[in-house]
Amino acid sequence: MHALQQGTTNATVRNTPTGCGLFAHAAAAVGDAILEVDGEVLASPSVYSVQVGEQEHLHPHRDALANDDTERSRWRFLNHSCDPNCWMDGRTLRARRAIAPGEQLTFDYNCTEWSMDTPFDCACGACNGSQVRGYAHLDADARARRDAHAAPHLRARAMHGHA
Ligand SMILES: [Zn+2]
Repeated sequence: MHALQQGTTNATVRNTPTGCGLFAHAAAAVGDAILEVDGEVLASPSVYSVQVGEQEHLHPHRDALANDDTERSRWRFLNHSCDPNCWMDGRTLRARRAIAPGEQLTFDYNCTEWSMDTPFDCACGACNGSQVRGYAHLDADARARRDAHAAPHLRARAMHGHA
């Protein structure tokens, strides 16, 4: 596993049937770093933020949102899946399995978010359409299934009984 330089371009934004998504440029092997999430850390979540610590929510750069810039902070287009091909290792998106060029990159939002700002009914196709609301709302079985990929800040908080 290698560290990735900021700004490395390994993925591109494309249209999907339901909006936009982020797609791999190149093949990736299990554990490969695909991109780093960059932006501004705030204390509360938004529809675009990814939780990187107990009170830390990384938001896309404001200018990227204001300018509708699909290059800068393009990680905000990563879609959720209940059977994802990536996971967030701190601020690094890594491949959970082999990824082919052109494949859409996804991760499980329940593995980074404690309680989501904007819950939604899942349309990933791998689940029964259950609501994605964050780790706080998962039962013990659902948490156990995510042990390998849930962010440390979620597991720590669950263990300390703030659920
Ligand atoms: Zn799903």
